Amino acid sequence: MVVRTWRHMQERYNLIGKKCTTCGKVYFPSRKVCPECRRKGEMEDIQLSGKGIVYTYSIVRAPPKDFQKESPYIVGIIALEEGTKITGQIDCDLDKIEIGMPVQTEFRKIKEDGKSGVISYGYKFVPTVH
Ligand SMILES: [Zn+2]
Repeated sequence: MVVRTWRHMQERYNLIGKKCTTCGKVYFPSRKVCPECRRKGEMEDIQLSGKGIVYTYSIVRAPPKDFQKESPYIVGIIALEEGTKITGQIDCDLDKIEIGMPVQTEFRKIKEDGKSGVISYGYKFVPTVH
């Protein structure tokens, strides 16, 4: 029971990608096969730090219905320390966001379905505090 809960938490609160042990490339979301090495590649789980820099971003002013409370918000591509890029929401003042800015993941409640009580968690990026 404890193990099951722990695993569940691991999946929800960590960024687990795949690393190809043959060429060293890191993939997130994880892949079964390395596109570079194909069958020669050996893939293993890797815990990503969640730290990186803003590679590019855009400000979303007409978001999907579920996110309207938070409009406008920033969606960006983050270049992670591990060398892979991931897309995510960046929680930052609109006039402070800039390309190259250091950011890190933060896990938080993204939305709550009032009727069923289902709470969705996910990651967002926040500016790294030095
Ligand atoms: Zn590879």
